[in-house]
Amino acid sequence: MNIAICCDFDGTVTLTDTGKEMLTSLTTKDWQYYDKLVINGEIGTRAALVKQWGMIEHTTMDEIFEIVDRIKIDPTFLDFYNWIKKNGIFFIILSDGFHTYITRILENHGIDSEKLVIKANDMELVDNKIHLKFLTDNCEHDCANCKYSQVLKIKEEHDKVVYIGDGLSDILPSEKLADYIIAKRNEDLAKKLHEDPRLVEFSNFKDIQNFLEKILNE
Ligand SMILES: [Mg+2]
Ligand SMILES: [Zn+2]
Repeated sequence: MNIAICCDFDGTVTLTDTGKEMLTSLTTKDWQYYDKLVINGEIGTRAALVKQWGMIEHTTMDEIFEIVDRIKIDPTFLDFYNWIKKNGIFFIILSDGFHTYITRILENHGIDSEKLVIKANDMELVDNKIHLKFLTDNCEHDCANCKYSQVLKIKEEHDKVVYIGDGLSDILPSEKLADYIIAKRNEDLAKKLHEDPRLVEFSNFKDIQNFLEKILNE
């Protein structure tokens, strides 16, 4: 079976959400307010990210990396990643976060990010303010990086799509397009789709590997 694995990064590969850790450390303003608007469907993630990152008045790359370097990935991810590579399974990271920190966190854990396909937004510092560079020009959902459009393309080229995620930006692509939805236990995605028969909950990547080995042998 020709399967594709689409995998979120923050809170899924990492144990905590890098963006939220950065916002918490770099501003005292109420950035959580905009998450609530996204949950209520009042704004898209693109508008939310502009507002939230705009709250940081002044920062430096040293300050950013100091936070990023404290982020840990799931200790079972490395074995999972090696298993994926050994079996030649299509694997892509789809993130509403930034390339800058994703590659750094992977490298910090001994994973060569050049060997992974990563679709994410990016950022740069302009006069000590964070300037966002979105991957998606525009889409009907006002996404920063439209995971739905990415998964739609991948679905055309594979028999089955496995979607792994935890959060708000994972709901639409997994609910509409995935054959198997693997959701981090007790997080927004699992809560939202708890009645969906495609849903499998996970605690770590060892659970996910066990599940995938089972379906690949069916
Ligand atoms: Mg996430
Ligand atoms: Zn979209």
